[in-house]
Amino acid sequence: MALQQLEDIRQIAQATIVTAPDREAGLACAEQLAAALVCQGSGPRPCGVCRACRKAAAGIHPDIIRVRRPEDDKGRQKKEIQVDQIRRMAADALVLPNESERKVYLVEDADTMNTAAQNAALKLLEEPPRGVWFLLCAGNPALLLPTVRSRCAVWSARAEEQELDPELRKLAEGFLRCCAGGDRAELLRWCAGHEDMDNRSLSAFLDCAAACTAERITGRAGTEGMELRELLRLHALLERCRTWARVNTGARHIFGLLAVDAIADEEIRGVAH
Ligand SMILES: [Zn+2]
Repeated sequence: MALQQLEDIRQIAQATIVTAPDREAGLACAEQLAAALVCQGSGPRPCGVCRACRKAAAGIHPDIIRVRRPEDDKGRQKKEIQVDQIRRMAADALVLPNESERKVYLVEDADTMNTAAQNAALKLLEEPPRGVWFLLCAGNPALLLPTVRSRCAVWSARAEEQELDPELRKLAEGFLRCCAGGDRAELLRWCAGHEDMDNRSLSAFLDCAAACTAERITGRAGTEGMELRELLRLHALLERCRTWARVNTGARHIFGLLAVDAIADEEIRGVAH
């Protein structure tokens, strides 16, 4: 991934959920944001050459602290981030940074925090200590509690990374309009009209639709009346479809699924009867 530099680190909220098309891209993005926060350069950050940047790149900067799922006694990573890890992080966050003016907690697979851990993180995310940043890498932000999500900004690695192809964007926007409209028949017609797409176009469409949804989640595009939780749900659904498309699930199946699931049931959407 190309080095992404920021003119102003104030662009990064102290509590940020980092999402990306895949786990590695999400981590790479969070690492760059962390490096930008500790960088000592005077221009765009991370400069990539200062002492802090070099330490960050080598994974040895003392003010970039990684929180990851613990290992069991056989060295396998456990399924969840536990509450005591978040409590330790909370206590540690009160200690001043070592070298930098700032301190960054990079939480890997933050969407595996169990409920107790997420609840323990709420106060920190609501009011991060001065000079402390929390970057929550989450492949599926929909797995985070709404109370956690509402306290965080979302940084999408994908949408920052590339310009979307205009034709694809038009297609994806058409799909999202159907979802926003909430008319199942119209969505079904739209999906049926595209089910002969070849696999390559299908993957490109899903990538683009996920990126457009992320733009809405992060406020870079209008939500067209869709609520945040609806957008997060749709984003998670598109992520699942992208995984299936990678293992050669055909367009007919994927559009069939989208036709059924892309518009939530009315009770979930909270539509009054
Ligand atoms: Zn630097």
